[in-house]
Amino acid sequence: MTTAVIAGRFGEAGSFSTTFGAQTGLAILPILAFGTEAQKQRYLPKLVSGECVGAYCLSEAGSGSDALGAKTRADRQPDGSFRLNGEKMWISNGGFADVYIVFAKVDGEQFTAFIVERAFEGVSTGAEEHKMGLNGSSTTPVIFQDAHVPAENLLGEIGKGHKVAFNVLNFGRFKLGASTVGSASGAIGEAARYAAQRRQFGQPIAGFGAIRHKLGEMTIRTYAIESMVFRTAGLIDADMEGHEGGHEAALLAALEEHAIESSILKVAGSEILDYVLDENVQIHGGNGYVRDYPAERHYRDARVNRIFEGTNEINRLLIPGMLVRRALKGHLPLISAARKLQDEILSPAPPAAPDDSHLAPQIAAVRMFKKAGLAVLGLAMQTYGEKLTDQQEVLSLEADILIDTYAAESMVHRALGAGESGAGALQADATRAFVSDAAVRIETAARSAIAAMAEGDTLRTHLAALRRLLKVNPVNTVAIRRRLADEAVARGGYIF
Ligand SMILES: Cc1cc2nc3c(=O)[nH]c(=O)nc-3n(C[C@H](O)[C@H](O)[C@H](O)COP(=O)(O)OP(=O)(O)OC[C@H]3O[C@@H](n4cnc5c(N)ncnc54)[C@H](O)[C@@H]3O)c2cc1C
Repeated sequence: MTTAVIAGRFGEAGSFSTTFGAQTGLAILPILAFGTEAQKQRYLPKLVSGECVGAYCLSEAGSGSDALGAKTRADRQPDGSFRLNGEKMWISNGGFADVYIVFAKVDGEQFTAFIVERAFEGVSTGAEEHKMGLNGSSTTPVIFQDAHVPAENLLGEIGKGHKVAFNVLNFGRFKLGASTVGSASGAIGEAARYAAQRRQFGQPIAGFGAIRHKLGEMTIRTYAIESMVFRTAGLIDADMEGHEGGHEAALLAALEEHAIESSILKVAGSEILDYVLDENVQIHGGNGYVRDYPAERHYRDARVNRIFEGTNEINRLLIPGMLVRRALKGHLPLISAARKLQDEILSPAPPAAPDDSHLAPQIAAVRMFKKAGLAVLGLAMQTYGEKLTDQQEVLSLEADILIDTYAAESMVHRALGAGESGAGALQADATRAFVSDAAVRIETAARSAIAAMAEGDTLRTHLAALRRLLKVNPVNTVAIRRRLADEAVARGGYIF
């Protein structure tokens, strides 16, 4: 939870957020979690104080998403040391880091992590990249030419570099999601204050419905990612408390358990942020497109969030992919639940008695979203079996359903906790609008996925079942967005 709050505040800092994230999450964390006592003593104090800067060298020109395809070699020497040869690309903090976490293949085969100092013989960096954004951060190649790495700088075990890399990525994805909350809420403040003071046609633009729609929707989506981040942080903290190993072991175990949620936060956060920052530019009009205002810089800085820490395409595939893997290992009763759901759909229950308790329709809708997600995933597993991993379009549509479902459920939980009056009423508003629109998005995604897997009568049966499942009454999202926008303008920023 502390990490989420800090990452959120740093999110507003653009370039520095990347520098700081590379230091803490990419350099300190691997040493903390996988280092020997001697490595911790040697490197951590100066990395923590900031006397030393750290970086993380995984990507190469030929291997980004396919990180395990790295070509950098670490050849074992007779004295137990290693000789590194290869070139890493796009390394944050590359230009001024003192310590690099480097991934290389021992004798060209075993993917392994090392701690490499800039001062070691044979280590150098290339020129700064000319980036679209984050121009206050350093991104360079890091080059190893017969670089000499002592045996004691092996990080973890030979051939177990993937454990270091994937654990770091899990944490990075969680933190990236958390950081978008700060950036998005900051941009809502800029947009709301600008809309209040910018006058056209004799009135502040904040009074126009088209602008109120934007401010309302920016608020709703930011509330969505914030609710998902808080919920996930709570789940990770709760898991850590119950863990019997030390702090680092507990953290890694909890992050692995919630790797699906971290991927969801990464994808949802980066896309919500891009939406919010795009609308911030739009609300600023011509001033949004020039450098006198920060809106255009935020827009450029944020774009990379969809590319690093695993691209959004890769993370979308991971979300249902990890669910299916857990089901096949027997850790999740996905297959039996999908069968039970099929029977339930074919013999629909009589309509439930109306429930007018707080957010009752939204609670019911979330239950239906889960069923729609389960129906699509169950059909996909049945249709493609082991070849499901080849069906990226269906998996990505399923990921979209799961992301919307996790968002909707997180918002419902949070809004219920906030009560029915004051800020609670506005949170309930945001939740109602989100759920109403999510129902349409989920139906569209589910229809596309089902139509790719079935035809004729089978298709018609599945679509009819889907329509029954997703019968969610629309709410007046226009009025809700107006209320939220007016509140954002009155308070000069994000209201939750
Ligand atoms: C500013 C910046 C900072 C960075 N910092 C670091 C750092 O500190 N350390 C580090 O190691 N790396 C860093 N990176 C690298 C970053 O992690 C990679 O760029 C990223 O992983 C994507 O790899 P790639 O660029 O090779 O793209 P590719 O892997 O070539 O992907 C190109 C496109 O193909 C898609 N694609 C690829 N494989 C698949 C697949 N199997 N299925 C479907 N679609 C696929 C991708 O989603 C993407 O849309 C940084 C990059 C940038 C831009």
